[in-house]
Amino acid sequence: MSNRSLTKDELGSNNLYALFRGRFPADLSQVFLETGQGRAYTYEDVERETARYAAFLAGLGLAKGDRVLAHVEKSPQALFLSLACFRAGLIYLPLNPAYRKNEVEYVLSDAEPKAVVCGSESLAMMRELGVEQVETLDGEGDAGGSLVGKCRQLQPDFATVACEGKDLAAILYTSGTTGRPKGAMISHRNLAANDLALQDCWRWTSRDVLLHTLPIYHVHGLFVACHCALLSGARMIFLNKFDARTVVRTLHRATIFMGVPTYYTRLLEEPGFGKDVCGNIRLFISGSAPLLEQTFYAFQQRTGHAILERYGMTETGINTSNPVEGPRIAGTVGQPLPGVSVRVVDDAGKTLPPGEVGELQVKGDHVAAGYWRKPAETAEAFTADGYLKTGDLGRRGPNGYFSVVGRAKDLVITGGLNVYPKEIEAAMDQMEGIAESAVIGVPHPDFGEALVALVVLASGGKGLREAEILAKLKEVLANYKVPKRVFFLNELPRNVMGKVQKNLLRAQPEYAPF
Ligand code: AMP
Repeated sequence: MSNRSLTKDELGSNNLYALFRGRFPADLSQVFLETGQGRAYTYEDVERETARYAAFLAGLGLAKGDRVLAHVEKSPQALFLSLACFRAGLIYLPLNPAYRKNEVEYVLSDAEPKAVVCGSESLAMMRELGVEQVETLDGEGDAGGSLVGKCRQLQPDFATVACEGKDLAAILYTSGTTGRPKGAMISHRNLAANDLALQDCWRWTSRDVLLHTLPIYHVHGLFVACHCALLSGARMIFLNKFDARTVVRTLHRATIFMGVPTYYTRLLEEPGFGKDVCGNIRLFISGSAPLLEQTFYAFQQRTGHAILERYGMTETGINTSNPVEGPRIAGTVGQPLPGVSVRVVDDAGKTLPPGEVGELQVKGDHVAAGYWRKPAETAEAFTADGYLKTGDLGRRGPNGYFSVVGRAKDLVITGGLNVYPKEIEAAMDQMEGIAESAVIGVPHPDFGEALVALVVLASGGKGLREAEILAKLKEVLANYKVPKRVFFLNELPRNVMGKVQKNLLRAQPEYAPF
């Protein structure tokens, strides 16, 4: 794939929304999004609703550079809110709605959003957390009525705010090795660069119909999926969540499906899933975690489709992709997108020849400038010549295709969601009766990896049981971060440097989740 950098013209006023708007279909009455309940929103609705939301936010006194935290379930309105923030020059900050009070509290103190938009079920929590400016997206809000309700009274016109490419469009929190999430600062230019490259590489056109089942608090579902559709004047079937049966029933109406590997293993478990429901599909795309080769081949055999695997991360969007035309190779993540440089380096930072495993480093217009209010972590994340250290281990194949072979940093990806063991260990280590703990990811046919906790009890904690520990963790952590099992040990294996040897724990077959 050739190198192609962004022209000023492509960036429009440098506001990402202006770029999208310039590419909407001439006939705005074309449908952009339809919901699982059959409600359709046209491109004209996108233009009108985002104008109203942007005017509403500006009317609250929010100005360029202010943060808007969204703690909302997936809905078309949540997507419009993100676009409205771009339009108004505000920084969109989505959180997983499963985040509990203490997780939200941390982000509130770190990002200091000027306004919070939440679901009505979290309004009381936001008030308890002392949020002054809080609106519900739909439901009962502050001054009576939700944001959507209040916006209905507003005129649907708003002049999109001029931005510079480096102005921030979003902050996406991604867990750090310290266990505390860090806010990746994503600019209008970062998103425009990646969205345009992807639209081109994946050959999006206005005839495409994306079946969208991913969450929209994460880069994959929010940016990669929705922005490609917006840039192409395409249509999305927007389902609230992934459900294999519903996907099997709906696929025949779509041309593109995007998912994490778990979605593909779940589809393969559906007896009704096969060639006949995939008749219209031109691309199945997978990413956010490694797609097992056995899944790639089983899928190919069942449907005739070679899943297109790509590699990305919150800080960058997509870095590499298998091709639309040309071979898609199982166990690889393809080649760098246009405008993206990828290299493999050893511990000393020396670039390695093809075939050798080292850290993957990436550079390009799509790479975030760093982490919000974390200059030390930002400096640590980049090399002197401007490459982002991904923390992933990989190699370049002789054909120029890259493979991701592991993670230098300690991260577990379960069901496509990232979990940093450190965060769970810290919660367990604080419990009375626990001396120390280690959390590992073990292979799981459905989730890819499942979390398992290994616990050493303190002398006074002999009576502590698995169920009690799990129940306590559920109070402070989102469900997907709670381990599937807890096993008890007399001591944790450590190396001479005092580091817990998780590789030895992972090698023990008895620590199976079931
Ligand atoms: P996130 O920031 O949540 O998008 O997670 C990024 C991490 O997911 C990367 O650093 C990789 O470790 C992992 N990842 C994403 N795509 C792939 C892939 N295709 N194969 C293996 N790992 C992947």
